[in-house]
Amino acid sequence: MSQVTAINNILYGGKIEDGITKDAKSMGQFVLDRFKEIENHVILVDGLNGTEVTAKQFRAMIIDFAINLRALGVKEGVSVGICCENRLEFACTMYGVMLLNATLAPCNVTYTERELHHAFSLSKPKVIFASTATVKKVAKVAEKNSFIKHIVCFGEVPPLKHIIPYSKFLKTVKDKPKGDFKVKPTNVRENVLLILCSSGTTGLPKGVQLTQNNVLRTADGQFESRGILQEATVLSVIPWFHAYGCLTLMMLTAIGARVVFLPKFQEHHFLNCIQQFQVDAAFMVPPLMVFLAKHPMIDNYDLSSLKILMCGAASLSKETANAVQERIGVPLIRQGYGLSEATLSLTVQSDGHDTPGSVGTVRADTYAKVIDTETGKPLGPNQRGELCFKGDVIMKGYVGDKKATEQTIDSDGWLHTGDIGYYDEEFNFFVVDRIKELIKYKGFQVPPAEIEALLLTHPKIKDAAVIGIPDEASGELPMAFVVKHGTDNLTQKEVMDFISERASPAKRLHGGVRFIDEIPKNPTGKILRRVLRDMVKNEIKSK
Ligand code: AMP
Repeated sequence: MSQVTAINNILYGGKIEDGITKDAKSMGQFVLDRFKEIENHVILVDGLNGTEVTAKQFRAMIIDFAINLRALGVKEGVSVGICCENRLEFACTMYGVMLLNATLAPCNVTYTERELHHAFSLSKPKVIFASTATVKKVAKVAEKNSFIKHIVCFGEVPPLKHIIPYSKFLKTVKDKPKGDFKVKPTNVRENVLLILCSSGTTGLPKGVQLTQNNVLRTADGQFESRGILQEATVLSVIPWFHAYGCLTLMMLTAIGARVVFLPKFQEHHFLNCIQQFQVDAAFMVPPLMVFLAKHPMIDNYDLSSLKILMCGAASLSKETANAVQERIGVPLIRQGYGLSEATLSLTVQSDGHDTPGSVGTVRADTYAKVIDTETGKPLGPNQRGELCFKGDVIMKGYVGDKKATEQTIDSDGWLHTGDIGYYDEEFNFFVVDRIKELIKYKGFQVPPAEIEALLLTHPKIKDAAVIGIPDEASGELPMAFVVKHGTDNLTQKEVMDFISERASPAKRLHGGVRFIDEIPKNPTGKILRRVLRDMVKNEIKSK
């Protein structure tokens, strides 16, 4: 295990010696070779029906997938979208795209047509894979975007024109080429494997470009610590369209873990899967930890197989972690911190770096610093500032948005996270606040600027600001401050319904609506969110 060192307040997570991916000529060939090595491992299990897939079977499936996809014109430089729940075909798409050195653009299944249109206008997919649940809205988006040439649907196909059923897609190429499939070598540092949605530090969602190298280096980190997860049974319920779900799936299958997946979180299925498949480890988000800590159903299940819970995507309090440990007796709870712009995790708890409430220490191969937000100077232990990271896991940039990329990654290659935190004398990191505009509801991104722009399209709304208010179960709840036009008659419910009709569930105004005379702004017109947040905080205190 690598050692963290610090010089002039710059921390380094240590070198990964002989990382197993270091000579990889492409991520696709790396996984094909890897699946051959572990061919008898069961790597995927459908948690609903128990169907098991070995690495050998999966290897054959993804090669078949790639050959058919190539026939639709997909190759290096071409994007493929996917908008569906966690299912075996999602995993096939992810790897099939990888074998062609093409780019995968996953989209949130709960996105509305408006949100999908925005996401796909960033990644411009030529082919989109959807499921029965999402294909109608994907088809609507395709009507307005001529770059989308094919839509393939998993499961039952509703009566719509021009949709290719998955069974037909798999027969695109009748006579499959003989011999083993070889992935063409590519420039792994340039080749974009994934385009993910993230609003970054400000504004609307942008397309985070992760290269094959970003993912290979992340995999190297996992191989270093594979002791815990290799050959473990791991539950994957985090949506695969999100960086956290997508990248943990890639890492786990490559390590040779047995991944039990569920289409989405449903209380009974989640608990039943742990019991039935004797799950050793699960990737979690704080609301799921609150569920484990508090829900009465927990007592009806035997969860004693669990050895480790890994939690990320938002802050996990030590109180919740303790409550889970007491309730279900899981020996290890580990918290990690990361962002889509940094592939998977930047810091993670490990042996010796597991102080409760901390997010662990900086990962191997990565530099970290905490900077003074005024002067930009790197700070020493226990001083709060903006967390910045540099290394091979940092994204290539936002697709087609040079300005936003330059605002996020400085000319020395440091990613400015917009998160506020500090590290202690043992180099444990703590995340305490955010200076970026992001709200996180149940681990999902809610960009205030997007909701504010939507609110301003309402004829009775003159001005608006959206903030997140703390909530134990969901992390933060989006709340709107609204200035009405004149004395217009407008109710809170009208405002909430207006957003619910136009935004996916995470972005709805779960924290409510407040009418206000004026939105506090600085002289340049920037919303003073801190003033609004303090207003709510003081009200809660005085209750
Ligand atoms: P995303 O790109 O959707 O994963 O969101 C990344 C953001 O989630 C980070 O910049 C943080 O603000 C927040 N985040 C992720 N993990 C943690 C954590 N363990 N503690 C606190 N905030 C977190």
